[in-house]
Amino acid sequence: MTTPSAIGTTLLSALAGVLPEHRPLHLHEPELGDLEQAALSACIDSGFVSSVGAFVDEFEACFAKYTGARHAIAIVNGTAALEVALVLAGVERSDEVIVPALSFVGTANAVIHAGATPHFVDSAEVTLGMDPAALDAYLADIAIPSAHGPVNRVTGARIAAIVPMHTYGHPVDLAPLMTVADAYGIPIVEDAAESLGSTYRGQHTGTFGRLGIFSFNGNKIVTTGGGGMIITDDADLAARARHLTTTAKVPHTWNFEHDEVAWNYRMPNINASLGCAQMQRLPDFLVRKRALADAYCAAFADAHRISFISEPEHSTSNYWLCTIRLHDATESELNEVLAAANSAGFGCRPAWRLLSSLPMYETCPRAPLPIAETLASQLINLPSSPALWSDACE
Ligand SMILES: *Cc1c(COP(=O)(O)O)cnc(C)c1O
Repeated sequence: MTTPSAIGTTLLSALAGVLPEHRPLHLHEPELGDLEQAALSACIDSGFVSSVGAFVDEFEACFAKYTGARHAIAIVNGTAALEVALVLAGVERSDEVIVPALSFVGTANAVIHAGATPHFVDSAEVTLGMDPAALDAYLADIAIPSAHGPVNRVTGARIAAIVPMHTYGHPVDLAPLMTVADAYGIPIVEDAAESLGSTYRGQHTGTFGRLGIFSFNGNKIVTTGGGGMIITDDADLAARARHLTTTAKVPHTWNFEHDEVAWNYRMPNINASLGCAQMQRLPDFLVRKRALADAYCAAFADAHRISFISEPEHSTSNYWLCTIRLHDATESELNEVLAAANSAGFGCRPAWRLLSSLPMYETCPRAPLPIAETLASQLINLPSSPALWSDACE
């Protein structure tokens, strides 16, 4: 093994100072225990394990209450939730949907599954999410008004939705972004998959757009094994979401009546039972993740070329994944630091490869992406499980 560079040594000693001694430490591990065992048993005993059942209703009610949304519809996963939300927001075949280039691949995949094309835009350095000012300048250049909404003058396609994503739990600067979206008459659908527990100006992420979606995959802050949620304040959209994700079945005591082509995307009761238990733990997860973030922040306060990504102004982040930035790092230096961290048992990961550079999205329309390109070669996610904090305090 080669000796780590100066910056690698700085990283390793800061991590060792914050984290418990046992290794390896993974990036993010779920916490499941007696509460989840009891909920699962109750679900099995009820006889309802599939897409109908009391836990689905309870999870949805609890989620709506927690986020402050009027309606919540439990879905099989976050990608499916985003696909449906886009269709409900009015996205149609051959439209374009504005998404951040710096995101998980599910964001762009959902756009394709909804029949549209992802159109990639740049990020802001502070929030890591969509940059409202850059988007405004870009739309001023490429969007021309038409009777059915703004059209990309280069491709001729309608721009049908904007999908901000709250990266690693840090809220996007929503106020200016909504001003831009309103000015162009483009609906916002929030990809809040990573930001359960995060608020912007005191309001929960996911409730600013016409619809918002969440994910409960195994690595997210709350997990149902696999799962997702759509939230909205619009009763008609909520009813459509329920109908379209339940094979468009018309309620009847025994008849199989379906009135349109639809999806089988509803969350099974067995997954929802886990969700009910996990929602009880969420406040405690948030406290411990914030304590871990504070400890990381202090540990990197004086580190040369390394800065910890703190929650943006006007926001409270869930600190789903704690993240540092290696200023001026090239891809090879980043890789060298990641190799040193992982071989020392610290499960650190780089940011996603920019979606615009993946083979299936290479030819999609895009804005200039200078900040996203820089961030993608300089961000490192640190071990962020809530359990790391209680362990560290022992
Ligand atoms: C996790 C995630 C999704 C997709 O969620 P799944 O439940 O895995 O389908 C979508 N977007 C973002 C930003 C995510 O992090």
